[in-house]
Amino acid sequence: MRTLRPPVSIKEKELLAKIGDKLNNLPSGLAPGQQSDHYEPLVDPFNRVVKDLRISITDRCNFRCTYCMPQEGMQWIDRHEILTFEEITRIARICVERWGFDGIRLTGGEPTVRAQLPRLIAKLKEIVSPVTNKEIEISMTTNGATFRLLAHDLRDAGLNRVNISCDSLHRDRFYEMTRRDQFERVMEGIDAAIEAGFAPIKLNVVVMRNVNDDEMVDFATFGREKGIQPRFIEFMPLDAEEGWSLDKVYSADEIVAAISSVYPIEAITKGSEPATVYRYLDGKGSFGVIPSVTKPFCDSCDRVRLTAEGKFRTCLFAIEEFDLRPLLREGGSDQEIADVIEQAVGKKWAGHSIGNVNFIRPKRSMSQIGG
Ligand code: SAM
Ligand code: SF4
Repeated sequence: MRTLRPPVSIKEKELLAKIGDKLNNLPSGLAPGQQSDHYEPLVDPFNRVVKDLRISITDRCNFRCTYCMPQEGMQWIDRHEILTFEEITRIARICVERWGFDGIRLTGGEPTVRAQLPRLIAKLKEIVSPVTNKEIEISMTTNGATFRLLAHDLRDAGLNRVNISCDSLHRDRFYEMTRRDQFERVMEGIDAAIEAGFAPIKLNVVVMRNVNDDEMVDFATFGREKGIQPRFIEFMPLDAEEGWSLDKVYSADEIVAAISSVYPIEAITKGSEPATVYRYLDGKGSFGVIPSVTKPFCDSCDRVRLTAEGKFRTCLFAIEEFDLRPLLREGGSDQEIADVIEQAVGKKWAGHSIGNVNFIRPKRSMSQIGG
């Protein structure tokens, strides 16, 4: 295993030099389409294996959710600066073939506004995991508004899983939160995902105090009836309008208390997933809570992110970014790209410090990073 922590002692330096020699003797880049016969897990300075790549494929969106984007005045990235499908696939291929990444999630902005999305899915599905010798799992997070038009094509192209975001089951409130009157379209999108055979389907719900915190049980009931899993997400300080404050966070504990007062539940053991999952004791499904603010899951974080214009980030809240686009567009080799990714992962921090005085908000808001 490869540890990228900077050396702190002579002994450690010597040990790392030995490991470095060994690694330098490994074959460099793979030819396009060539499958790796070996891989090495990519390990960060805190011994966490990095294996989940989240790719934002656009910064644009057909919604303007209050907790994410401003009503107006968003500065869009120029189209020619956005990574092409070929460039996105190349980064994904490097991560999977060299380090055995096991999952790719497409996000944004709103990924479904990108034209020819099934073509991207099909290209990503050509990547074979050296761990399983099978194609990799591709998932996507979407607001669902146009999903009814795309569900079957995306499924046919190989998309494995989908998370659909919906923060209220009341049309008026949905409109207030998203600034778009698209509640019915999202409901149709959820039904289309079910009909197309996606499973499990997760429903992302951002919970804000005094906004939608009275709907926890309704969402639980909705999930039980539809056979989908709500995932309640604590509101994070990534809203473009910078209106976040700790008192607007409705905590995971409060969410669990509200639901368990109606439906008996038990916690299912937590893996590397950020969500703690609870199952209903009557067997009618489960829900998850993502306590990013009150109980951060940084200790088990296995994620890295690629923004729509090719900046590599090791945390949602990272301040430092590593630009891969110049290498992609100016003839950089796979090895050079891998080196920058390793350098970035070597600086991955232990965790964010939301709520503490030393917390620094990243300059980008959620839709510009890729949630
Ligand atoms: N547009 C797609 C969507 O909304 O599903 C994908 C991108 S969106 C940035 C990804 C996820 O981040 C969504 O589930 C959204 O609700 C969530 N999100 C956005 N801003 C957030 C915030 N400030 N705190 C917590 N979650 C947030
Ligand atoms: Fe768009 Fe998703 Fe952000 Fe809402 S949360 S504004 S749907 S990117």
